[in-house]
Amino acid sequence: MNAVGVQSVALMGTVVSIEVVGCATQPPLESEREDAVARAFDWFRRVEETCSRFDEQSELRQLSTCIGTPVPVSELLYEAVQFALAVAAETGGAFDPTVGHRMEARGFNRNYRSRRAANTPLAPGGPATFRDVRLDPAARTITLLRPLVLDLGAVAKGLAVDLAARELRPWENFAINAGGDLYLGGHKDQGRPWSIGIRHPRQPQELIETVQVSDCAVCTSGDYERPSPDPAAGHHLMDPRTGAAATACASATVLAPSAMVADVLATAAFVLGPAAGLRLLERHGVEGMLVTPAVERFATRGMRHE
Ligand code: ADP
Ligand code: MG
Repeated sequence: MNAVGVQSVALMGTVVSIEVVGCATQPPLESEREDAVARAFDWFRRVEETCSRFDEQSELRQLSTCIGTPVPVSELLYEAVQFALAVAAETGGAFDPTVGHRMEARGFNRNYRSRRAANTPLAPGGPATFRDVRLDPAARTITLLRPLVLDLGAVAKGLAVDLAARELRPWENFAINAGGDLYLGGHKDQGRPWSIGIRHPRQPQELIETVQVSDCAVCTSGDYERPSPDPAAGHHLMDPRTGAAATACASATVLAPSAMVADVLATAAFVLGPAAGLRLLERHGVEGMLVTPAVERFATRGMRHE
């Protein structure tokens, strides 16, 4: 095997790292690997250009300017919104990709590059919900039934990781780390699976769990990740049913074959809390672990120790 070092690039408001270990049998050409890694990083740029809530030019923000008419959108945006809306319906709105405007109001409104603040003017009225968005799969259009700001903050990174992983698949053994949202292809070395530490939500230097995975995404939503600049507003995981920061969990980690699924379900389970969160993960046939603020652990069957 022919390992290359880890390459890291600042993208999507975080640091994205890619490590290609390579495959033992019939490795593709060395020059192809460089191109594949470049294409993998490019997906993060493409997904950000498409899905960013903080960039007025993004396809997502452009869509937000058209109310009441079906807007033809890219496959990328359609796929992200479609999955987010499905999980919104399934969770009764505990997960809801229409929280953008309320996230802005809670202080999560700055473009991390330009530091410019977005304060989208919206007509007064109660908060928008996922029921205010209509999809037409045949025409691949999205219709916003009222003014709202879509927020794919819990979807986009996972989607980009999946697309990047597709580029690296011919190398079998590789790791993608998008600010703690991971995809681990194949094995680390000598046939050993990747060993991934899950951070203790209250002891930053400690791990609360370690998992061995292969061809698997591992995504975590934690209340320690992104505090609002306004201390009264709390962290970045909102319960749309109350409008306040969700408090039942301190962290939620999901293991799934797709990073988009793991990313969304981690956020959804975090907001739902341990009991309903675990049921959601079990319905989707994925493994995961939820940790409460009192550091009680709730895990799916495959992650329990007994
Ligand atoms: P991170 O960005 O730290 O990986 P997550 O993947 O959990 O965290 O995504 C959190 C982001 O999801 C928030 O920054 C916000 O944009 C969005 N979000 C927050 N609460 C909800 C919710 N209840 N439903 C859908 N999206 C949410
Ligand atoms: Mg995430």
